[in-house]
Amino acid sequence: MKKQRVKLTAAEKSELFAEGVVTIVLLLLLNLSIIILFHLAILQDKNLVNGLIFIKESLMFTGSHTWSWQRILMIAMMIADLLVLYWRLIRRYHQMQLRHVISELHYIANGHYDHRINFAVKPDLQKVIDSINLLVDSTVNSINEERAIEKSKDELITNVSHDIRTPLTSIIGYLGLLKSGMASPDDQQKYINIAYNKAEQMRSLANDLFDYSTLKSTSTKLTLSDLHIYSMMEQVAAGFELEAAKQGIHFEVEARPKELTFKADAEKLVRVYNNLIGNALKYGKGATTIKLVANSVNKREVELRVENNGEKIPQDSLKKIFDRFYRVETSRNLKTGGTGLGLAISKNVVEMHHGTIKCESDDNWTSFIIRLPLKQPDAEKPA
Ligand code: ATP
Ligand code: MG
Repeated sequence: MKKQRVKLTAAEKSELFAEGVVTIVLLLLLNLSIIILFHLAILQDKNLVNGLIFIKESLMFTGSHTWSWQRILMIAMMIADLLVLYWRLIRRYHQMQLRHVISELHYIANGHYDHRINFAVKPDLQKVIDSINLLVDSTVNSINEERAIEKSKDELITNVSHDIRTPLTSIIGYLGLLKSGMASPDDQQKYINIAYNKAEQMRSLANDLFDYSTLKSTSTKLTLSDLHIYSMMEQVAAGFELEAAKQGIHFEVEARPKELTFKADAEKLVRVYNNLIGNALKYGKGATTIKLVANSVNKREVELRVENNGEKIPQDSLKKIFDRFYRVETSRNLKTGGTGLGLAISKNVVEMHHGTIKCESDDNWTSFIIRLPLKQPDAEKPA
């Protein structure tokens, strides 16, 4: 934004004019008294007059003509007058600038937080203004952040209550049918199964929420140990073997080097793998392979990949899938019963390890790529 000069009001302009006039009058009076004093002093002192004549004569050698001392005095006084006049006016002008800055500050303080002070003023005041603008910027940012947090908390409560109410309504519905005793034995079994599944769904939501909020809290610490990643991936994969086989999916586990070991919180990392593999099984429609890969990329980092060759995730969903409660194509996913917290929890765990997680998806592979430092900076000894 282009900076503007401070625009003076009509009153200020006349104030400045009056200041100028008063200064000039005072200076003229002062000049007059100086001239009078000079006259008195010089004319009463014969020696001084002779001295001045002598100086004048010696100056004759250097220039073609000399000025009378009265003239020199007049010019010197005029220069001094102009300097004094300039100094007084500029000083008053700066005071007025400051007044304008203060009134702008009041304007901002009255709640106009999108307003910025946009004056071009003298350098030291400019520094103050720039700092004020920065201060307002950072205050506004923190207010906005605060609002966003508040809003996301409201959303969280809305989402959770919705997610609790839906299964609960059907549980109550089916239990009601059972209670009435009107259902046939076949139906009874069916209703019990549905109610049981819905109750499971609620438990998984409660667990997710608990994990999400404990991981979010700053007091939650990692329990670090040396993690042999290949064995861990094999173990996790074994847990899903049965389910995967049902869907005709097989696992490929790979670590380079095979003995790759790094510091991490094993329990929390297993949680991440469980979610990523669970997702690959649930959403990777048409997949035949799930790959678990761990690579040492350089001396400081490892890369962990969970990949499946199922249906691709649309480009605009990729950015959002790590947001809590975000689910691609919610209607399709309703059957799978997730809450959309899994990836948000995974991201939290990775970030607690000072790492990053991202997702890439094309027609062939959907890959979740985690980067973790080999060493954790604030290493906590396991209890
Ligand atoms: P939760 O994990 O809390 O039970 P969820 O699995 O739906 O619920 P996330 O794990 O956060 O939630 O996943 C978010 C969404 O990302 C999923 O609903 C799904 O639409 C999409 N997604 C995640 N992984 C894959 C994948 N491998 N292939 C296709 N889509 C995926
Ligand atoms: Mg999930």
